[in-house]
Amino acid sequence: MGKSSLTSGFYKLNPKERLKFVKEYADLSDEECTLLQNTGSLPIESADRMIENVVGVIPIPLGMAVNFQINKRDYLIPMAIEEPSVVAAASYAAKMVRDGGGFSTTSTPPVMVGQIQVVSVKDPYAARMRVLQAKEEVLKKANEQDPVLVSAGGGARDLDAKIIITTQGMMLIVELHVDCRDAMGANAVNTMAESVSPMIEKITGGHVCLRIISNLAVKRLVRASCIVPQNSVGGEEVVDGIVNACAFAAADPYRAATHNKGILNGVIAVILATCNDHRAIEAGAHAYAAKSGSYTTLSTWEKNENGDLVGSIELPMAVGLIGGAVRTHPIAKIAVKILGVKTANEFGEVLAAVGLAQNLGALRALAHEGIQRGHMSLHARNIAVAAGATGGLIDLVAAKMVEERKVRMDRAKELIEQHSKLRKD
Ligand code: NAD
Repeated sequence: MGKSSLTSGFYKLNPKERLKFVKEYADLSDEECTLLQNTGSLPIESADRMIENVVGVIPIPLGMAVNFQINKRDYLIPMAIEEPSVVAAASYAAKMVRDGGGFSTTSTPPVMVGQIQVVSVKDPYAARMRVLQAKEEVLKKANEQDPVLVSAGGGARDLDAKIIITTQGMMLIVELHVDCRDAMGANAVNTMAESVSPMIEKITGGHVCLRIISNLAVKRLVRASCIVPQNSVGGEEVVDGIVNACAFAAADPYRAATHNKGILNGVIAVILATCNDHRAIEAGAHAYAAKSGSYTTLSTWEKNENGDLVGSIELPMAVGLIGGAVRTHPIAKIAVKILGVKTANEFGEVLAAVGLAQNLGALRALAHEGIQRGHMSLHARNIAVAAGATGGLIDLVAAKMVEERKVRMDRAKELIEQHSKLRKD
């Protein structure tokens, strides 16, 4: 019989006690336990307050993307990511964009939508009218829940209601539109949605089930655009290659998924560095990319009358500078200071620019020389380390694998073996 992970009261233990359980369960060595307990800049007490059942922390590299100029202002971009070449590509792309005057950005007000699901409504269409008529009363009740948000200039602004046809019959969905100012807003919106639900039940005569924020944040959009001079990007052929690559992605969801993944490489790295909710951003981005009914790209690349490359991007961006872990994680606080953004809107716009830069970096590499050359030389070092290379041998093994175009674990092991045999002889 296998080992059992069934246990009670695990959450009541302290991290050390939990680790003892994990050590026995997974047969961890003392050395492995020490590594897990080495929490560096995030004290174990803080980690233990952030999530449940904590036993340690996992460090991720934090890099800085340079060269960014957005709305004529310079930014240094902290990025937390495990994937090689993302930070280098963002920095390189930002330099090309800078040649064309940098990024221009805009955004909508930071409005999130909270959904209230009402079932068993006898007269859904008439109930919808009654809810809309009661708008001011409902918004007042919602705003009473968060005087701090209201005093910061935010709060519930509007109300909508729609009928949907489901496998369980008709449902009335009431939607609260909440200006979340500098918060991501999930807690704020969920609290408001819960608080107005008894009122909604009374008005509709139905039964309220779910009360939750929507991550398809269509009312909280960020936009960035840029012009990349033809010579900076590598000439007319590269411009045409990027425009073609974008057309391919716009027409084919299989390519669009990878195109958008490239955008999110940049966005999510900054989101992680600032301890924002990356699941919310990814869910919102992909849902937005599919809002027309077929999944497509979040960005476009065109050629203007001068033959220069013109890029633009629009995506939802539910980010905060307040709330969640942004102000409790010591490194996230430093990352926000480095970014120098003052509002969640400014932060969102920077993220749009980073996404567009990351997209440009990937498309240029793909259209110009194929992605593997740059990517593989960095990746080869990771493979060499994973295969057991240390010190100077890491670069030797990596360089040889790249030269042979065989960046693989089996080849790395062979090369390490050959090297140690040579040294013995
Ligand atoms: P929060 O409740 O911690 O902070 C927001 C609050 O800060 C506001 O309600 C307001 O009272 C206060 N505030 C003070 N100054 C403000 C200002 N200038 N602007 C805005 N608010 C100000 O956090 P939150 O942003 O409501 O929720 C974010 C958290 O919710 C994240 O940790 C996220 O992971 C989590 N979450 C997400 C989902 C989802 O995305 N589906 C669901 C549940 C929870």
